[in-house]
Amino acid sequence: MSEFERISEHIYVMHAEQEADRPLLAAVVGRSRTLLIDGGNSSAHAQTFRDYLEREGVRRPDMMVLTHHHWDHSFGLAEWSLPAIAQRQTAEILRGYAGLDWNEAALDGLIAEGKMSERTRSDMHVEYKGDLTKIRVEEPNIVFERFIDVDLGGLTCEIRYVGGDHASDSCVVFVKEEGTLFLGDALSPSVYGGPMAYTTGKFLALLDTIFAYGANVLVESHGRPVTREEFYHDVRRYEQLARQVLRHGRDRSAIERDLRVDLGLNAEAELPQDLQEAIEYFMNGLEK
Ligand SMILES: [Zn+2]
Repeated sequence: MSEFERISEHIYVMHAEQEADRPLLAAVVGRSRTLLIDGGNSSAHAQTFRDYLEREGVRRPDMMVLTHHHWDHSFGLAEWSLPAIAQRQTAEILRGYAGLDWNEAALDGLIAEGKMSERTRSDMHVEYKGDLTKIRVEEPNIVFERFIDVDLGGLTCEIRYVGGDHASDSCVVFVKEEGTLFLGDALSPSVYGGPMAYTTGKFLALLDTIFAYGANVLVESHGRPVTREEFYHDVRRYEQLARQVLRHGRDRSAIERDLRVDLGLNAEAELPQDLQEAIEYFMNGLEK
């Protein structure tokens, strides 16, 4: 079931969904313009959000920004067919995807090249009901390199290229007057072209960038919006982990031992499941 929420006076969202791995979509509504953040993974996904915005009487979207090129964020753009802002790499990759004849063979090729995965295939099959020929990809037409600001009328969206492990083209969107920061998937590990991985350098640099915004609300595309306090509480554990990986390298038992101390756990305690997975991702990152 799709779930919608007006998370602040000017921001409407359609929450992320487990099925087919649909990410959160957002509409930021200023006095004179409405900006969409991400297009959705299909026409159906885009339509569901558009119907909600119409029911709410929200000003029609004027433009869109893509947080990165991944299909679940970008393939819905064709349905909206709006002026779309994207980082240069995002635009280049989507231009390539727009020129493909979409079917199983095309997807086989992308998986072989490490640009998509078997997980992508199963999610696409759910979203497109087994028929990949229904996929339509449109390329963005407003391209920036490092940052671009969008004035929506009394509301400014600062779009900034941040990169990171998940996708080399990741961007964040800061709705300045509301103090809301959209992170896309930037803080997630890499998902294509090998086992999921984090690298300490990219992860810690990204955290510094994010913390510097001092945002009140932070929104990750596959999670729920959280307050600054909730975000810092959660992410601080990952920061401690990354620092232990820097210190101990491949010595996993030393990492686990010192992380328990950092977290105030006793020496025999089991580490939380998410951190155990994250250790695995950091170890994979060391192989790189
Ligand atoms: Zn992604």
